[in-house]
Parts: sequence; structure tokens; C-alpha cells
Amino acid sequence: MPPLFTFAPTLRSLLRSLLPVAVGGLLATAPHAHAAPAGAPGAFTIETRLLGRPLSAAQRATVQEAAARVSALIASPFTPVRLNAPAGDCDRGLPRLRETAPRFVVFVVVKSLGDDVYATGMPCDLRDGSYLPIYGTIDLNSDGLGDLPRADLLDTMIHELLHTLGVGTLWEAEYRVSMNGDSDSRTFVRRVGKQLYYTGPRALAAYRALGGREVGVPLDPDAGHWAGAAVCSEILSGTAGDFTGRVNPVSPLTLGALEDLGYRVNRPASAPFRLPTGRSCATQVTPKTGTPEIRQSAAPAVFSSCAAARAAGATLPLRRGQPGYRPEMDGDRDGLACENQP
Ligand SMILES: [Zn+2]
Repeated sequence: MPPLFTFAPTLRSLLRSLLPVAVGGLLATAPHAHAAPAGAPGAFTIETRLLGRPLSAAQRATVQEAAARVSALIASPFTPVRLNAPAGDCDRGLPRLRETAPRFVVFVVVKSLGDDVYATGMPCDLRDGSYLPIYGTIDLNSDGLGDLPRADLLDTMIHELLHTLGVGTLWEAEYRVSMNGDSDSRTFVRRVGKQLYYTGPRALAAYRALGGREVGVPLDPDAGHWAGAAVCSEILSGTAGDFTGRVNPVSPLTLGALEDLGYRVNRPASAPFRLPTGRSCATQVTPKTGTPEIRQSAAPAVFSSCAAARAAGATLPLRRGQPGYRPEMDGDRDGLACENQP
């Protein structure tokens, strides 16, 4: 196996995809159904390996749950693969790798990333032929992690794990370079004027089935997330971080994106999902499954003070990126406003 220097460092840094921070209370249904049990022969299993700052037992369990949920989305088996890389090859802090991995290994490096992101995630090296990732890495921001509610950590980890599998990170041909240096000409992103669209066939078919009428699924300018306004609450929405206190749904769009990359998927694992019908995310309602619909905050987007935010029933603290957050209310600029309010 050739040395694992598939991506130039600049490309690797480009591959990093950021989860913008935080909205209201829809809990996606747990993926389940036809996946072989995690660890069973033939199952696709994600193995997370924690590095860096220690996590609490509860946080570790949440990371494990995210890995189990994403594993359950995938129906194709993971073919054992030789990992052979010097220390820090794909991401700072990763150990030297000399092993045959029977599972999809994702390193989770817990460290300070500053104020603007919860986490970043990307694939490390792609298989020859299929261009599917061999292993992946996630940097999880230790800043404020102790205050991150369980649902938001779960949501963040599911989102980043999808990035490690190539969703949002391997959509353009320039990143689809395998171990032996071959590149895949397929690209799933099309530009029309200033707007980027995802045009991979499976996700596009899912978008059409949901009533989407544009030439492709609208993307954020980073070409790695569904446009927030187009999907509102969805696990790979560019504004997924605006929806706090919940796990954003894994919609048929994201399952389709996994299929476009070459994975077989467990269709029943997708969550109830509807596209918003107007310009506001408040028009996004879930089908009649008993799952509560997305509740956009009825509170005003701007609070005059922390006391006003509390009086309006906002959940404190307010996080950067969340409706109502203002730097003026965040005296120590740590991304949490009104954190000392009862
Ligand atoms: Zn992301």
C-alpha cells in the first residue's frame, strides 16, 4: 500500500467542514430496522477512538450513540482495510497507524477550537476504485463542551460522522482522489449563477419526491451542507446548529447523499421530514407520526437584556448562532450569553 499522503495539506484543510452552531425540540426517531447489529459480521460499524482532553462518561456514551446511529444508516458492509500512516498524517494528534481495521475508525480529537464551531469532521484517505473513505477524523471543541446539552452533542457528532463518511466533504471531484492517486471525475455540485446545487442522482430524487423543484438541492456556499433556508432543520443543514435541544432529522436527502457516494443505506432509518413550504422555517412540519413539529422560538429574535430573554422563556444561556444571541450579552465572549442567569 502506498504511503497515505493522498491529500495535500491545503486540500485537507479545505476538506474540513464546520458545523455552524444551533433551534427548538424535534428529536429524530432513532435509526433502527434492517441493519445487522453493530459488531455483527457484515455490519457497517463505526468505531470512535477518543484522543485529547477527556470526556465524561455521559459524553463518551453520547459519542458512542452517535456512532451507532450513523452505523445503522448504512447497509453495505465495511471491508477491512489496512491503515498505514505516520503519526499526525490526517489530523494533528493522530497516532501512527499500523493495523488492519475491521471497522470504520473515526478519531475524535477533543481540543480547543475557539468560539465559532462545535466540531469539524473529514474523511482520511479514500479507497481505490470506490472512493469511499478508509478512516476519518473529528475535532471536537472542548470549549463549552461541558455546557453542551446531550441532544446537541449527539446532533453534532452525527453531523460530523456523516462528514467523515464523505457526506458534504467528497461532493466535488477535486476531493475524490484515492490512495493510488486516481481521481474520480464525478462531482455532485453544480453552480447556477451564484447558487450552488447538489445534483447527485439519489439525493436529487429524494428531493423531488419531497416536492423540491429547483435544479438541484440548494447548497450553502461551502458546497458541503444543504442550504439552511432550503431544508431548515436537517442533520446536514448549514444551519443545523441553529436548532438546539434536538437531534436534527436525518432526511431522505442525506440518505440519498450516502447512496450517491456508494453506500447502500437502510431507508427506514431516515427520520420523518418535510421541506419547508415558504420562506420561513416555521412552515416546515413533520408528517403525522406523533413527532412534535419544529418549534421555532416564539420569542423575539432580539432580546433587550438577559432578563428580557428569561422573561420571554428563552432557554439560557443563549449560544452564538442561536436566535437571540448578541455579543453584547456575552460579556466574556465565550459564545454563551446570559450564562450566569438563573
Ligand atoms: Zn458540517
